[in-house]
Amino acid sequence: MATQIKLPKPTGTCRWIRPDSLVDDLLEGTALFRIAVKTLRGEVVKTYKVRYFDRGFELIERGTGNRYRVDASFGPKAEHWTCSCPDGMYRNRTCKHVSALNKTTLGLGV
Ligand SMILES: [Zn+2]
Repeated sequence: MATQIKLPKPTGTCRWIRPDSLVDDLLEGTALFRIAVKTLRGEVVKTYKVRYFDRGFELIERGTGNRYRVDASFGPKAEHWTCSCPDGMYRNRTCKHVSALNKTTLGLGV
């Protein structure tokens, strides 16, 4: 019988750089979002420029310019949201973008 190695679930933190003007910044596409994830190799910190439109979010990763699209149109919970990043597309799990955005934008009314 094959032994399955279970890796610990990634944990992390996230924060908006300018939370006071978050709704305006999201609509203008100038919101800055930082996600820090603890991995086996240490903490990985990424900063994204985020825009809200069409009931979803577009994230542009600082440094690489990678773009991800989070679709939040299917319901309010994280498991209803989808993301175009590799974790969301190929590993079929709730990625860090969805978890972090879902946790911090509910109740904003965007
Ligand atoms: Zn993602």
